[in-house]
Amino acid sequence: MTWQDVIKTENNNSGFLTFKEGDNKVRIVSEPEPRMQHWLGKRPIPCVGKCKLCADNLKVRTSHMFHVIDRETGEFKIMGTGVTVANAMRELKESDDYSFDSIPDYDITIKRTGLGLDTEYTVLAARNNSELTEEEKTKVADLKPMKDIIKSLNEADLERAEKEPPIDRSQVATDMNESGFETDSESADNVPF
Ligand SMILES: [Zn+2]
Repeated sequence: MTWQDVIKTENNNSGFLTFKEGDNKVRIVSEPEPRMQHWLGKRPIPCVGKCKLCADNLKVRTSHMFHVIDRETGEFKIMGTGVTVANAMRELKESDDYSFDSIPDYDITIKRTGLGLDTEYTVLAARNNSELTEEEKTKVADLKPMKDIIKSLNEADLERAEKEPPIDRSQVATDMNESGFETDSESADNVPF
């Protein structure tokens, strides 16, 4: 283990938020950062735009990555959402009652219903704004930039893909949700907030 790894581990130990069925209450504490991937079966391949797989007409899936506080456990986690949740957040931002500058001053509840390809997500904003605790604010200030986290995740994905045997593209399914991320069938643009 190198000092580099120590730092990585410390900043990365929040883990991913997995959406359970029903209500998932979180506080978003960072602006969205896009992560683009192609999926070869269950294997994610990072896309940097106009890559080889783009040229092969393989669909790009964009997730929007956030630092969040899981209100159920109080833990900081990384949340990856698809276009449904990201768009719902943008609608809140643009609404009269729930508008915010870069990060909402309120908790949100993401409700997951259905299973597999029928999974649906709805977003509800808390009625009232609430301030982060001093401890939470300190942790937010120490968060590793999401851009750097995505870079590490993508590097790990690429490394894994290089080690594994090539995938028979004819066996590739078009849709899945293996990572606990919300996935949507339509492609998403980056949410500009
Ligand atoms: Zn690509």
